[in-house]
Amino acid sequence: MRKPRIAVVGAGPSGLYTVAALLDATVDGPAQVVVLDRLPAPYGLVRYGVAPDHVKMKSVIRVLQRPFTESGVAFLGDVPIGVEGLPPEVLLRHFDAVVYSTGSPVDRRLGVPGEDLAGCYGSAEFVGWYCGHPDLAGLNPALDAPGVAVVGAGNVALDVARVLARRAADLADTDVPPQVLDTLAVSAVTDVHVLIRRAPQHVRFTPVELRQLGELDDVDVLVHDDGQLAAGVPASADKRQRTNLAILAGWAGRAPAGRRRRVHLRFLLSPRRLLPGGPGRVGAVEIERNTVDDDRVRGTGELTDLAVGLVVPAIGYDAVPIPGLPFDERTGTVPNVAGRVVGADGTPVPGTYVAGWIKRGPSGVIGTNKGDAAQTVATLLADLAATPRRELPDQADLADDLDRYGVRPVDWSGWLRIDAAEVGRGRLRGTERVKIAELADLRAVAHGRVVEPSR
Ligand code: NAP
Repeated sequence: MRKPRIAVVGAGPSGLYTVAALLDATVDGPAQVVVLDRLPAPYGLVRYGVAPDHVKMKSVIRVLQRPFTESGVAFLGDVPIGVEGLPPEVLLRHFDAVVYSTGSPVDRRLGVPGEDLAGCYGSAEFVGWYCGHPDLAGLNPALDAPGVAVVGAGNVALDVARVLARRAADLADTDVPPQVLDTLAVSAVTDVHVLIRRAPQHVRFTPVELRQLGELDDVDVLVHDDGQLAAGVPASADKRQRTNLAILAGWAGRAPAGRRRRVHLRFLLSPRRLLPGGPGRVGAVEIERNTVDDDRVRGTGELTDLAVGLVVPAIGYDAVPIPGLPFDERTGTVPNVAGRVVGADGTPVPGTYVAGWIKRGPSGVIGTNKGDAAQTVATLLADLAATPRRELPDQADLADDLDRYGVRPVDWSGWLRIDAAEVGRGRLRGTERVKIAELADLRAVAHGRVVEPSR
């Protein structure tokens, strides 16, 4: 019997852990796998979500790249699937199974008036900008006011607060694109207000990330909790919660030490409205004091305005429906049973699987995707073993179909050209890599043109 042919859509951690699990499995020998991504570069959120100063976290790339470097798995980047690209049914014609690991790429909305004012960017946008995501190369946020508000108490809120609080010079030895460094270098920000709707015991930070905030050069971290922690740290059976509380209690009651920037962790506050400061641009956020009963947040009606020129809600991500596949708007996931996509009546959608955030929602760290991918692959292989292998078109026909839909893919050697160009730009700045953010430049480099950096 011929080897199963499988497409994995999305070259982020969940997709690439799926590929690794597929290669490990030995049903009729390892599967023939093709990885497609809508961007010319692989690695998804490791490249476009992990904060630039979390260099160690990016070293997982050494593991994620193995299917391409050691097992000859094909990479087809710059291949959109869905509305403006290849329809899912075309993919299914070429493969025995398709695994979608397309993540949760868009922001959850705050749902308050003024959210659409310029100067309010969801964390997917803001993080995408400083990570050099081609969709956000032109975001160009104005950091011209002393106050900024970051909403949320998860690790993404911490990443955003840290990047805004750090000196640009301290980020020069990371991979941030030059235009990001330029914007950060002229930042007028002095006060980063992290607005947290519940109490210190409810934060979702991981302690390592929280502690890092207190280790930044020339930054005061100030806790505004109405003296709650000073009056007594709540007991907790949960280790992460206990450690977070101990860190926060260590900062509580501290007076500013006159450092250059301040990060204010403000508890029991929710944004109610974003108010304009200039034409169409955010100038303040109206916040309401909350109480929390049985973990439920209630507004007290006590309102104040906080002057800010930038608001970044970091309140979680959402997925984008894949045309032709079922989608649960409430959870932002594709309905599935152990990775097998199912319709509203529970009937499996033939040959179609999901892994990662599109499968389980936007939570967990990079490593969480490993077990998640293994589950999807086990389901997929069980289905394959129970299904007679059908005739598939010649592999070369996929190239014809891509051509027909106007897609010019970037293959692995194209990505290696981007990689080499970025490493070259890094050498000029004295760092490991400087990302190319513009899509046109990524494409040009991938297809063999020499593109000089604009500066
Ligand atoms: P998250 O951990 O789910 O945190 C979302 C935060 O937003 C929560 O504090 C939540 O508060 C708050 N929130 C939600 N809706 C809100 C609203 N309407 N108003 C005010 N606050 C609201 O999500 P995330 O920070 O986006 O991170 C996503 C996942 O990636 C997480 O698993 C995270 O650990 C992971 N991640 C890890 C790292 C790292 O390891 N360094 C870095 C980045 C991301 P409630 O708790 O009150 O709901």
